Amino acid sequence: MIDYPQLVDNLSIGTIVINRALEVVLWNRWMENHSHIPREQILGKVLTEEFPALKQKGIPWKVQTVFRLGNFAFFSQKLHQFLFEFENTKYFRPTLPYMQQSVTLVPLKGSDGTVEYVCISIFDVTDSVLYQQQLIESKRKVEELSKIDELTQINNRRHLMTRLNEELAVHERSGCVLSVILLDVDDFKNVNDLRGHICGDYVLRKLAGILTSQLRQYDILGRYGGEEFGIVVPGGGIDQALVVAERLRSKVEKFTFECDNNKFNITISLGLASTRGNLQATPQELFKMADEFLYRAKASGRNCVVAPDYKDNHISKDSILCSGSRDVLNKTSPISS
Ligand code: GH3
Ligand code: MG
Ligand code: MG
Repeated sequence: MIDYPQLVDNLSIGTIVINRALEVVLWNRWMENHSHIPREQILGKVLTEEFPALKQKGIPWKVQTVFRLGNFAFFSQKLHQFLFEFENTKYFRPTLPYMQQSVTLVPLKGSDGTVEYVCISIFDVTDSVLYQQQLIESKRKVEELSKIDELTQINNRRHLMTRLNEELAVHERSGCVLSVILLDVDDFKNVNDLRGHICGDYVLRKLAGILTSQLRQYDILGRYGGEEFGIVVPGGGIDQALVVAERLRSKVEKFTFECDNNKFNITISLGLASTRGNLQATPQELFKMADEFLYRAKASGRNCVVAPDYKDNHISKDSILCSGSRDVLNKTSPISS
């Protein structure tokens, strides 16, 4: 013969039985341990008077429904976190100060089929809630890391292209022009060769910081490749992007880098492209075009900005806009004001 009271007392589930008047008729050991209320003290008492918070949680109404309809009812952890405010003693408290509970209300029927009692079973689901939270947090971290370039801590190329794709969709709908800038450090191989790779890494990190500080909040910067950076200038035509690019070029030229007590300067070359005349341009097409103008900047002597000059929405291949500090300006057409 099974000893049911002993069985109920040894369950690792909170078990309470109440009658129609909501008076407690059973209170198992699990409930005693977590509530610190011995059964002698609570048997015969109205549950919702001993735990007034249960009223706000709609328990009297739920219990009445179980008595009336004879169905099971549930009290979800996702919606309420817990029914009884039991301390979470097992885990890191700031995340989960209280034991997370999933609760089931079971009708206990007499021989004539009417519900005589309701059994409230409380399951401690803190473990799985904590596990879920950790899983969500790890997923968020992985997603975040997959967007960031490890060395410079700015967007990596993949995320830069994703953001550009999103911006292009918005710009296409609004009919607004968008521009991109591709920039490359001049003679960067020399920095590595003369000062070492660690110094080269420092230059790239510092450069990312300079670029970030010179851009507006809605411009999008990313590391495009080794010593190449891409910038999306939303809502801006070539003239606007040219101003941004020239500001970056001039800022970098004036900045003094310092490695192992050696001070030195670097310069950058920049190529521009825009969606003017082709609002359906893909990210790849835009950066390919910017790369062609970057190539011209390098060929023109470096430390300069080269951009397409549009005539009637078409780029005239021989017509470029330039800015820079070397004698490049003498060789090409000046910036239009
Ligand atoms: P140019 O003016 O024509 O651009 O000349 P460059 O020397 O900058 O161009 P090149 O493509 O010959 O050299 C780029 C160098 O950038 C070569 C490569 O070792 C270096 N590089 C690429 N990624 C990194 C990096 O993460 N850290 C360091 N320190 N160097 C890098
Ligand atoms: Mg370079
Ligand atoms: Mg390069």
